[in-house]
Amino acid sequence: MSKLVGLYPGTFDPLTLGHVDIVERAVKLVDELVIGVAINRDKGPLFSLEERVGMVETEMARISKAAGTPISVKPFETLLMHFAEEVGANTIVRGLRAVSDFEYEFQMVGMNQALNDEIETVFLMADARYQSIASRLVKEIARLGGGIDSFVPDHVAAALLAKFNASKNKRP
Ligand code: ADP
Repeated sequence: MSKLVGLYPGTFDPLTLGHVDIVERAVKLVDELVIGVAINRDKGPLFSLEERVGMVETEMARISKAAGTPISVKPFETLLMHFAEEVGANTIVRGLRAVSDFEYEFQMVGMNQALNDEIETVFLMADARYQSIASRLVKEIARLGGGIDSFVPDHVAAALLAKFNASKNKRP
């Protein structure tokens, strides 16, 4: 059987324990995993591409070592299917939360199959503890001074605190 190369794409603005849980499951299924960090200028990310890649890399080193599966982290701005072809991925990994993600993901799979029917998309669900975590809400909670320790890795919580403290200090 040929090697299974998975591609887990996302904005990771910032990386959460939900993403980490999906990666920990994905490495059990594939021989090699590529994490694609979308540049995503449209979404106006809070963290720069370099910051997001850095956060993901910090966590991936640990997971890769524990699972024995090689993980690489690569930024991308092209069409997902073109990026998948470029990195030699034959499986796209996505996480699925309750019903909120379904409609969007359902459409994406249909369109992606039309672009390249050789690449399969697999959906994984995070542990119940992490199901409700969304990067958007984590940023909102951090901005309003709430505790985020149970949603993100420690280094990400520190980066969020630094980001919001810096913007507070900038205000007149
Ligand atoms: P995107 O901009 O593609 O939505 P995200 O960084 O928000 O990127 O998410 C990347 C992937 O991780 C998506 O498939 C998303 O559904 C999944 N994901 C994010 N948070 C969770 C979570 N708490 N549980 C399961 N999957 C998640």
